[in-house]
Amino acid sequence: MSAVTAEIFSKKDYRLLPTQVPPTVVETLDVAEKAALMARIERLLVERDAVLVAHYYTSPELQELAEATGGYVSDSLDMARFGTECKASTLVVAGVRFMGETAKILNPEKRVLMPNLDAECSLDLGCPAEEFTAFCDQHPERTVVVYANTSAAVKARSDWVVTSGIALDLVRHLAGQGEKLIWAPDQHLGAYVQRETGIDMLLWSGSCVVHEAFKADALRQLRAQHPDAKVLVHPESPLDIITQADVVGSTTALVEAVRKLSAKKFIVATDNGLFYKMKQAAPDKILLEAPTGGKGATCVSCAHCPWMAMNGLRNLAQVLECGGNEILIDEAIRERAVQPIRRLLAFAKQRKQVVLGNNDA
Ligand code: SF4
Repeated sequence: MSAVTAEIFSKKDYRLLPTQVPPTVVETLDVAEKAALMARIERLLVERDAVLVAHYYTSPELQELAEATGGYVSDSLDMARFGTECKASTLVVAGVRFMGETAKILNPEKRVLMPNLDAECSLDLGCPAEEFTAFCDQHPERTVVVYANTSAAVKARSDWVVTSGIALDLVRHLAGQGEKLIWAPDQHLGAYVQRETGIDMLLWSGSCVVHEAFKADALRQLRAQHPDAKVLVHPESPLDIITQADVVGSTTALVEAVRKLSAKKFIVATDNGLFYKMKQAAPDKILLEAPTGGKGATCVSCAHCPWMAMNGLRNLAQVLECGGNEILIDEAIRERAVQPIRRLLAFAKQRKQVVLGNNDA
C-alpha cells in the first residue's frame, strides 16, 4: 500500500446526478412471447449473417440466446475480440454504447448494431471528450490511461486503454518505468489501483452508478448476519466496500471465485446481471446481493444498470428485422482509438495474461 494520495484533479464532480440516470426498466415477457421472440431472432441472425454478443450484465434471456446461437457472453473487450474472430459480417452488441464502439473500433469492416443506442454508461457520460482532452493537454508529461468504459474520442486521446482485470498489472509496469498517470474516468477503480501500486496518478472524478450505490454499513450488517459468506467486490465500488472484500476482481474473476472457492455462500457487490453466469458456474452456491439504498430509497440503480436493462428481446428482434441502430465512428478517431487498445492486447499477450474474461462494465 502506498502513502501517496491520488489527487482528483478537477473541482468539477463528473459523477451523474440521480436525475440524470434513467429508471431501470427490465423487459417482462410471458413464456409464449419469449419463445416466439427467441425463434424469430434465431432465424434473423442466420438470415442477416449476424452474431449476438452480449455483456454479462444483460438479461438472462439475452445471455441464453447468445450462447444458444453461437454468439458470446463476456466483458466489453472480450466481446470485441470475439467479434474479430467470428466470421459473421454483422455483430449485434447487447450491452452499452461504448461496447458497440469498441467492437467497431476493432472490426471496422463489420456492421455493428445495438438493440438500443440510448444505452449509455455513467462513466462514459461523465468523461466528455473535449473537457478530457483539454485536461490532458495541460499535463503533457503524464501518460494517459483510460478505462474501456469511455467513448471512442476519449480512447483516441489516450496512451493506454485498460480493463479492470489487467489494471494492476499494467499500472505496476508503468510505475516501474517511472511514469506518472492521468487516470479516467472511474475515480474508485483509479483510487484502488493507486492504493495498490503507489503510482502518481491524477484521477478523473467519474463513477459507476451501480457500484457506487453499495452501502458500507449495510454490508457490515449483512456480513455479521452471514459470517460464513465470502464477500466478492468489483473494484468500481467505493473504498469502504472494497476494504470489506475477500475477493476484489473483474466480473470473470468474481465468477471464477464463486466456482473455485469452497465457501457455499457469497455476498456479491456488482451488477446482479452477473448472477446468471455465477449460477451457471456454481448452481449449488448461495448468492446474496450486497446492499444498496433499496428501491425507492437512495439507490439509483439498485444493483442493476439502467442502461444495460435497455437491451431486450423485443428491440433486438426489431433491429435485426429493420436494420438501424448501427454504430458508426469517424475514421480518423477510430484509427487513433485502436492504437491504445492494441497496445493493451499486446501487453496482455506479452504477459501471457488472458484478457479474455476480464470485465469492464
Ligand atoms: S454497470 Fe456501471 S460501468 Fe457498467 S455500463 Fe452500467 S453504469 Fe457503466
